[in-house]
Amino acid sequence: MITAQEVKQKAKEFGADLCGISPMDRFEGCPKQYDARYIFPGAKSMIVLGFRIARGMFRGIEEGTYFSAYPSMGYAAMNQVFIPGVLHKLTNVLEDDGNETVPIMFFAGPSNNTVTGKFRQGWSRNVSPDKPYPDVLVNFRMAAFMAGLGEFGWSKVFLTPEFGPRVRFAVLLTDAELEPDPIYEGHICDRCKQCVKHCGGRAISMNESVKVTVAGHEIEFAKLDEHACEAGINGGIDGQLDPFDGKYPNQFGYGRAIEGAPGCMRACMIHLEERKKILNLFRNPFRTEKPWVIDRSKPYELSEDIVENYVKTGRIEDYMEQIRYDAEQNYKTAPKSDAQTTEAVSD
Ligand code: SF4
Repeated sequence: MITAQEVKQKAKEFGADLCGISPMDRFEGCPKQYDARYIFPGAKSMIVLGFRIARGMFRGIEEGTYFSAYPSMGYAAMNQVFIPGVLHKLTNVLEDDGNETVPIMFFAGPSNNTVTGKFRQGWSRNVSPDKPYPDVLVNFRMAAFMAGLGEFGWSKVFLTPEFGPRVRFAVLLTDAELEPDPIYEGHICDRCKQCVKHCGGRAISMNESVKVTVAGHEIEFAKLDEHACEAGINGGIDGQLDPFDGKYPNQFGYGRAIEGAPGCMRACMIHLEERKKILNLFRNPFRTEKPWVIDRSKPYELSEDIVENYVKTGRIEDYMEQIRYDAEQNYKTAPKSDAQTTEAVSD
């Protein structure tokens, strides 16, 4: 029978940076819709894999010159190419040993809005009243907490002692009974609130928090305005305020996060490195001068040649309408969090 140690060794051999194990009873009290036991009632263990996002994937965004690395290699390709490959191999190792194993990659199915967690009416129906709606959405950050991989930062981004916020996760459910890891008891986040101050979408509350209890441990993180986060990810909305003419192109099916998560990822990473609160440290500091940020003080301006092109192709009205809509959403309807009461991006 395969052991926890062998599973971890294989996971790392296949390309995972981190691996933790949780027993399934740590889901006790979890809302039905997020409870992995509904996916595999016979599961005994949840294996959670962590994959680092390289620091260099943020470099071009910091400079305002190269935007491709983070949304593609640092997000979509990790979630859709590299990580499924590791899940595939580890599943086979477990099943070769006679343990049924369900690999769960990053979820972006049509039935669920992964940001707000709200189902779209008519898009998803439960197959019987006692079951949750398909697909059950395992919260990867909660799973990582249950598997002892780290803690929630104030930003609600999960922080690991190795890489801080620079980690993506994946999960396997197996009926192998594996020795679990203890819940992480350290403290990485020191409530510096750099994530709040630097969040382009102003989505993270400075003072309001949410508390939840997981596996008998109380977790606290900032109240997050998911819609403002969604707008911020797009660099405004739909990338209209980004440095490109129109939306940044999709690569691996994804073309957002144009500003590279300036608060919850970059500011947090810089802070944790400076304070030496994480293990993956570098010879040179990440930030040496004022970083590039989207100028949200004014709407995206169309140069003459762009206007000419849109007129020629008959798309100018649609385009202007989109810009008006984006600006309205971004500046008027996006709820103002108390983050704005501080001097944002003051340093
Ligand atoms: S930036 Fe500071 S407050 Fe925010 S999550 Fe990171 S360590 Fe915590």
